[in-house]
Amino acid sequence: MSATIIDGKSISKLIQKEIGQQAAEFHQGSGVRPKLAAVLVGEDPASQVYVRNKERACKRCNIDSELFRLGADATTAQVMELVNRLNNDSSVHGILVQLPLPKQVDALQVLDAIRPLKDVDAFHPENVGLLSQGRPRFLPCTPFGIIHLLSRSGIETTGKHACIVGRSDIVGKPMALMLAQRDTGLGAAFANATVTLCHSRTADLKAHTKMADIVIAAIGKANFITAEHLKEDAVVIDVGINRTDDGLVGDVDFAAASEVASAITPVPGGVGPMTVTILLENTLKAAKLQTA
Ligand code: NDP
Repeated sequence: MSATIIDGKSISKLIQKEIGQQAAEFHQGSGVRPKLAAVLVGEDPASQVYVRNKERACKRCNIDSELFRLGADATTAQVMELVNRLNNDSSVHGILVQLPLPKQVDALQVLDAIRPLKDVDAFHPENVGLLSQGRPRFLPCTPFGIIHLLSRSGIETTGKHACIVGRSDIVGKPMALMLAQRDTGLGAAFANATVTLCHSRTADLKAHTKMADIVIAAIGKANFITAEHLKEDAVVIDVGINRTDDGLVGDVDFAAASEVASAITPVPGGVGPMTVTILLENTLKAAKLQTA
């Protein structure tokens, strides 16, 4: 069989249109335009592309954005000083520190310094704690983007077995928390899964993925998940972004997996656009929280 393609590009376009309308209504009612401050340290080309994409998306959604750049030799203290300035700037509602930071900068210290109400990436321990208690303020962009993708595609997760491969703080772990909860904001149908969280020390990975109704790959290894990892009709979400000689590819062998899966996200054009979209959703939410 050939899987249905979950088109993250068009789903994110739709959601961005909704965010744009909501941001315009919010501005009309409150006089406040939501604003995202992006901090870019150094010259990493991929980071520059990501930040540019985020700025363009803000524009489409009636959200102001401003880029703050520091040199590749910036110290932790310099980045902290900038973050503190943005924390105290009432015109800024969301702060995004583009990762990775240069080696000499203590990334944890910087991320912990972002005011939790402006933490639109949802990396601050306060926001992670609220999520783990099932009362989230902001939801992390990539995993919440995936919940939106499932919801807009009518793929319910209640009672399903979801297997997540990868346990990072930004994708795998929060994804597991969200899917296991009673509700993540899009209704009980798109939560309440039974979750297996796999990683590099998992024994017999295939045995776990092959049992799953939904497989989410966030590994960072090109074409790692093959048809042999999947049961017939599984839903496959590919988070991976790997630069290869053949261009950008995901963590899933797309051609082979499409023959087995019922639905699958492509790379590019799957999860990636959703990550940016949720950042905008969180920025609008942050503006509302700070204006209330
Ligand atoms: P990390 O490197 O932080 O985590 C990778 C995870 O994969 C780790 O938990 C690791 O296990 C696990 N892993 C590695 N090798 C294996 C293996 N052989 N078997 C099972 N598990 C394994 O990556 P991220 O979560 O940050 O990112 C994952 C991918 O997603 C990357 O390609 C990244 O570029 C992409 N990404 C895409 C986004 C998007 O918007 N589309 C957003 C964020 C990331 P262990 O913990 O044991 O080391």
